Amino acid sequence: MDAPRDPAARPDTAPTGVPAAAPAAPAEDASSTADRPPLLEQPECVHCGFCLPACPTYAALGTEMDSPRGRLHLMRALDAGRIDATASVVRHLDLCLTCHACETACPSGVPYAELLEDTREKLLDSLLRPRRQRVLERLVTWAVALPPGVQRAGIAALRLAERMGLGRRLADASRGSGHRAVAAGLLLGSPPDGVVVPSHTPAVGRRRMRVGLLQGCVARWTFGRVNAHTVRLLALAGCDVVVPPAQRCCGALHLHGGRREEARRLARRNLAAFEEVGELDAVVVNAAGCGTTLKDWGRLLADDPVWAERAAALSAKTRDALELLDELGLPPARRPLERRVAYHDACHLAHGQHVRAAPRRLLEAIPGLELVPLTDADRCCGSAGIYNLLHPKEAQAILDPKLARLASSGADVVAAANPGCLMQIAAGARRAGLRLETRHPLELLGEAHG
Ligand code: SF4
Ligand code: SF4
Repeated sequence: MDAPRDPAARPDTAPTGVPAAAPAAPAEDASSTADRPPLLEQPECVHCGFCLPACPTYAALGTEMDSPRGRLHLMRALDAGRIDATASVVRHLDLCLTCHACETACPSGVPYAELLEDTREKLLDSLLRPRRQRVLERLVTWAVALPPGVQRAGIAALRLAERMGLGRRLADASRGSGHRAVAAGLLLGSPPDGVVVPSHTPAVGRRRMRVGLLQGCVARWTFGRVNAHTVRLLALAGCDVVVPPAQRCCGALHLHGGRREEARRLARRNLAAFEEVGELDAVVVNAAGCGTTLKDWGRLLADDPVWAERAAALSAKTRDALELLDELGLPPARRPLERRVAYHDACHLAHGQHVRAAPRRLLEAIPGLELVPLTDADRCCGSAGIYNLLHPKEAQAILDPKLARLASSGADVVAAANPGCLMQIAAGARRAGLRLETRHPLELLGEAHG
């Protein structure tokens, strides 16, 4: 089944701040990028600067080398051997959020994220990075890729530690600043919710599709309720939902950090896990960052003689849950929700997958719910995988304008289709004393249909 196009991806929701004269973005096609030409044949940056106003790090830091154009210049110079990798060069490249906003804005179609991924792979484990950053990145990418059984044991140990006073210590630590405060804030804001989804849920009424659900490596523990709502809504829309038991982390963090070989290993493992459960019409993901990664597996494994075709097939049938529910349609919601909701576009859904209108349409269909406008809704919140852990100061500088816009929107709920954004905004709102609930759109939909 071809990926449906999101009719409102452009021009009505173009990123605020991009010059009106900027030419249209690339096609709103959510399919894989496996058919791209080799890197050197891809479009060159023509230095027009259209991407600059769209870049959150350029807005926050104000330096050319922290803009897409500046980073592309650094990457080309590194590649051509005109400059050496120094601590400063690595830092400018590391400070990119990989939010894809520059790709949306770029009239030349420069595949920025792919070029950055390539450069980061060359700089992998560089000693030019601060030690704390290296240790944190390695620790997190290792932990998320562990088998679920090991993760479960780790979570049980954390819960025990919490009962023995860790919760109080975390609360104290979260009031400080730096890496430790961010980590403590994120842990406090997303405790395991203990909700587990069944391995098979039959469609309600006539079966229209058989779909497989990606649970997420962290989300399966901390956002189990979102998975449960996803399964129930998909069943209501006529889907038989299977949850492949052997699935693991999708490798999104590894891919963004340039750990391509690890990302490939995880992709192959997951491909086998999804193939194991039989023929699927779609693979459904409810976390924007993971969805972009699955849609990219075709490109990632394009040179693998065994997996290339299988990866491309899975990428082509991957859908964000909101995208698929919008396409299939839901019965009318039964419960009104009297809430003022601001919708924050997760970068990897808006810029990575070009899905913008579907979540808004679904939310607007909930009786009683008022969708309030949010300025720069598609501007990154600073979460960006583990960016907020590795670069807490810059992540906060990127989050601050988002919080200010949320506060002035008058919303009492912010909805975002990515667990990382929800955790980042919740932690920021708590620190700022903002009364703002953070919810996945699927939670709101699930309650309205409950
Ligand atoms: S991916 Fe985002 S943060 Fe990085 S250069 Fe592009 S717009 Fe800026
Ligand atoms: S990346 Fe694209 S938008 Fe940015 S300066 Fe280069 S050509 Fe222009």
